[in-house]
Amino acid sequence: MTGADPRSRIPRTDQLLALPEVQGARNRLSDRVIRAVISQTQERARQSEIAPEEVQDAVIAALTERRATSLTPVLNATGVVIHTNLGRAPLSPAAREALLTASGYVDIELDLATGQRSKRGVATREALLAACPAAEDALVVNNGAAALVLATTALAAGREMIVSRGELVEIGAGFRLPDLMESTGARLREVGTTNRTHPADYVDAVGPQTAALLKIHPSNFWVSGFTSDVPLRELRVIADEHKLPLIMDVGSGLLTPDSALPDEPSLSEALEAGADVVIASGDKLLGGTQAGILLGRTESIQKLAKHPLARAVRADKLTLAALEATLVSGNTPVQRALHADPEKLRERAERLGAELGMPVVAHDGRVGGGGAPGVPLPGWAVRLPEQAASSLRRGQPAVLPRVHDGACLIDLRCIPQDDDAQVAAAIHAALGALN
Ligand SMILES: *Cc1c(COP(=O)(O)O)cnc(C)c1O
Repeated sequence: MTGADPRSRIPRTDQLLALPEVQGARNRLSDRVIRAVISQTQERARQSEIAPEEVQDAVIAALTERRATSLTPVLNATGVVIHTNLGRAPLSPAAREALLTASGYVDIELDLATGQRSKRGVATREALLAACPAAEDALVVNNGAAALVLATTALAAGREMIVSRGELVEIGAGFRLPDLMESTGARLREVGTTNRTHPADYVDAVGPQTAALLKIHPSNFWVSGFTSDVPLRELRVIADEHKLPLIMDVGSGLLTPDSALPDEPSLSEALEAGADVVIASGDKLLGGTQAGILLGRTESIQKLAKHPLARAVRADKLTLAALEATLVSGNTPVQRALHADPEKLRERAERLGAELGMPVVAHDGRVGGGGAPGVPLPGWAVRLPEQAASSLRRGQPAVLPRVHDGACLIDLRCIPQDDDAQVAAAIHAALGALN
């Protein structure tokens, strides 16, 4: 004789809700999410994917696994320091702590001594000016693109901005800086050619409609061969002759020159060469959070700060706090990865390779994030079978290797040495899954 319908043995929602483990999940997950997990698990039992007796454990397991954010931490074994798909710059411990501090009520626009309202972002502004003394004033906005839009709108909307054809960049995912700037109502007056632009090209283009001169560091490509562009210092002379503001988008956010990246312009150099406004991202070589950094002369920066659009692109308290901490504490993970000692990288790779019985090969890391294209960062990698890559990505912890030349390469440059043991364990598991 067949028994009663097994579905009648599926635990009821109120029984499951009463379990101590389910109650315990309430400080992490909303009632709605908990009920959804319960009903999905009951449904699996109704579909006979699991037995009714397994529902309770399955609910507890699903709730234990369910985190409030679905973002998964990844160990970056690609050797690419600013990896756009991995969220660009990883934050320093000080910046992470600052994020936590800023996450509650904080005195972001309040002077605790007087009880009066205070200006937003004062400390971050001061940290930027201390890190870059060539700047008279500073403003932080949402990202580099927003900084460019704000500068274009405040200084050139309805008029013309002169820019070289060799500097009209697509920054990624189909976004083009010229489109972005023209969306503000400014017109781009393109001068020169793809490979060569001369001072006379700018001079000839200046007219009554000209509002500003713009120079963009073409960060993600380079032209070689018969090339020339006009240095900022020479543009300064032209700008002075015609009383025009000079804007420079350096992109990467290097504060001062870096010997490892000889062709990357720094904010300091651009200011010293005479730019009125210099634009950079906060989460590239600066090593901080997503932000747009505007440094420059007081008059120009104040004009931007007072424009109504500044309110629409203003940085939030988390950004301001993390950026300040990044600047004050220095020693960012980006800097460490960029300047990692190749000998140390080799020792670590060899230790890992020996433990796994896998070969170590020379491997160049990259700056990434559209910065310093073609500049190799010499280092080493452990070479695994290509098929290990997929298990590594889906493992715990997730490891992103570089798949190249039919191999899965593990470059330790962007991984803190303290995590080497975790990487080894993840690889052991991935290789085990192959067999
Ligand atoms: C990256 C980059 C941008 C865009 O900055 P985001 O912070 O990504 O918005 C603009 N200009 C240049 C030259 C860049 O390299």
